[in-house]
Amino acid sequence: MKYRSTRGGTREFTASEAIVRGLAPDGGLFVPCELPSLSSEDLRSLMPLSYPERAARVMKLFLDEFSSDELEGFCREAYGEARFGGAPAPTVERGGLYLELWHGPTCAFKDMALQMLPRLLSASLEKCGGSEGALILTATSGDTGKAALEGFRDVKNTKIMVFYPLGGVSEIQKLQMTTQQGENVRVMAVRGNFDDAQSGVKRILSDAALARAALGRGWRFSSANSINWGRLLPQIAYYVSAYLDCAASGAVKFGDKLDVCVPTGNFGNILAAYYAKRMGVPIGRLVCASNANNVLTDFIRTGVYDRRRDFHMTVSPSMDILVSSNLERLLYEVSGDAALVAALMSRLSDEGFYAVPDTIRDEIGRLFFSGFCRDGETLDTIRDVWREHGYLIDPHTAVAEHVRREYLSSEGRGRTTLVVSTASPYKFCGAVLKALGNDTPDGAGVELIGRLRDVTGVTPPPQLEALGSCSERFREVCPPSEMATKVMDFAEGR
Ligand SMILES: *Cc1c(COP(=O)(O)O)cnc(C)c1O
Repeated sequence: MKYRSTRGGTREFTASEAIVRGLAPDGGLFVPCELPSLSSEDLRSLMPLSYPERAARVMKLFLDEFSSDELEGFCREAYGEARFGGAPAPTVERGGLYLELWHGPTCAFKDMALQMLPRLLSASLEKCGGSEGALILTATSGDTGKAALEGFRDVKNTKIMVFYPLGGVSEIQKLQMTTQQGENVRVMAVRGNFDDAQSGVKRILSDAALARAALGRGWRFSSANSINWGRLLPQIAYYVSAYLDCAASGAVKFGDKLDVCVPTGNFGNILAAYYAKRMGVPIGRLVCASNANNVLTDFIRTGVYDRRRDFHMTVSPSMDILVSSNLERLLYEVSGDAALVAALMSRLSDEGFYAVPDTIRDEIGRLFFSGFCRDGETLDTIRDVWREHGYLIDPHTAVAEHVRREYLSSEGRGRTTLVVSTASPYKFCGAVLKALGNDTPDGAGVELIGRLRDVTGVTPPPQLEALGSCSERFREVCPPSEMATKVMDFAEGR
């Protein structure tokens, strides 16, 4: 299986090249040259397998340079008992169907991808014949940093350094990062906001002299960004697995269509569902749920993508985003026209908007239903689902639940729709407590975990509960101007 750029380019790339590079040389994203297919016999043969085995089989279809044994080993480590407590991606029925993707080490769905990417990257570096390791640089506004740290922790040939904005992440998110274990990790606060941290990292990644200096020490800079194919691919597996689980439980008759509703930010998660559908998994409509940053809702309804609008900080912060990078892959898959994609992307970066041709707008409208949910509705939905079904959901999942209800009362009447649940409610205690009618003091941290447990009786994930008693390892703060120096210190083992 070879990969090419969404913006054309001339050459094709192996899977390991695509994973090591992250971004294609022309700035496009890597996409598989052809999609493998899963027949209903193939799907049935996956039925008796465990989650790690299913994931390895699905990924193998895209990674012919990797052996089945190699991939099974990665999946057993990444999704094993020690990290996911036995059920990596269960579907549950609580008034509606939910796919819970937050049973991993950091309690958000990013673990599904970030437990696998480091293993794929480390092996890809070897397959590409380089002797250097990967030094991962990440700026985070909260969830990604911790998931990347846990994923890369003690992975061979890799080191990871995470920068977070001082005062710009929640108390729980900060503690999750500053207490991080592992020999190859470093965490640093930046005196500034998320943009300062992010542009600092981008500057370092595009500084050729710095890259040469790091390479001299044996390290190639890389990022754990969500546009890497190695992050998207593991996400296809859980849609295949979820369909099989729903068929096994009788929630859907094998072969009948199952719709999926996904809380969406950067468009990675829902794009994985699209790929699973294209491969032959009986997935029906793809329901795209946004928060008040509803640029995708408008795009799917009108064919016009327009980022020239106010940015809203919401109670579902991991979806606060105006440029959904992975949408570029969908545009390529639907149009098959790299020149068109290149033109649209340059229009977006120059003018802040683009409009797709009507045929593409119509095709996207057939595949996707879209809706959005404001903060008030998000909190109401958390309260309603708790009262009606005794099921506690986080604000991101609540955005999807709200849009599912909208869908089922309009175009989706009578259909079976699976909501993708992306985070543990205990990661967002403040918002959840508020939804249930409790006041919470500003700036409160881990103590809210106990409050939410007392109010609901729902058991918190042990890894979050333990935070209160973990000691902080990383207390260093630097100004943005010193980030490069700090990175070189880390590369040199200081
Ligand atoms: C990242 C994230 C999302 C958005 O996923 P995308 O793949 O970026 O669309 C939704 N919910 C949670 C909890 C997240 O961390």
